[in-house]
Amino acid sequence: MTRIAQDTVIVATRNKGKVKEFAHAFAAIGKQVKSMYDYPDIPDVVEDGETFFANSYKKAKTVALALGVPVLADDSGLCVDKLNGDPGVYSARYAGEGATDQANNDKLLRALGEWTEGEDTEQSLLSPAQFVCTLVLFDPDTQEHLEASGQVEGWIIAEPRGLGGFGYDPLFFLPEFEKTMGELTVDEKQSISHRGRALEQLLKKIEK
Ligand code: IMP
Repeated sequence: MTRIAQDTVIVATRNKGKVKEFAHAFAAIGKQVKSMYDYPDIPDVVEDGETFFANSYKKAKTVALALGVPVLADDSGLCVDKLNGDPGVYSARYAGEGATDQANNDKLLRALGEWTEGEDTEQSLLSPAQFVCTLVLFDPDTQEHLEASGQVEGWIIAEPRGLGGFGYDPLFFLPEFEKTMGELTVDEKQSISHRGRALEQLLKKIEK
């Protein structure tokens, strides 16, 4: 049995966007979230896996064994069809180690600009894309883990829109909302996002 603490969930991340979304989601079920900002002595885990699961499992297990309590990890990214699934697991460091969201977004538009040069891109929809998220909850007592994944389909657009969310959200257009992910409220994003969907699946597995 993989446990989750009654009142506090520890998430193995220093990504402020993720921390905010997990804090919002867990608050709705009466739990608070702690992140790696609450454990500054825990070193960053090197994300050298080739899959979202490999990285997520490594982060959850490493931090859970260091702290001696169950830990949740999220590995996620953007997969762009016209870039053969890039940046994928390299989404956070697409424009280089420690890259800002702005630098990553600029690189994405440059890469797609080269690809779509001369194309008649309807409504500046540059390419279909998916956000993907794999969550792992690792329990150091049993050495067992639970895993859940979520995905959301959208389009990369040529001009960023919206100040919400983080990362590639302002470039990720959702036709059903006629908005980018950056224009959604936190609740709206959670209800349809890769992370929201993965979390819903994980919570169902924990309840069983
Ligand atoms: P990770 O920390 O290695 O999982 O990297 C995740 C990276 O993927 C982030 O730094 C963002 O660039 C991107 N990403 C993941 N989830 C989202 C999201 O919900 N919105 C926008 N970008 C995201």
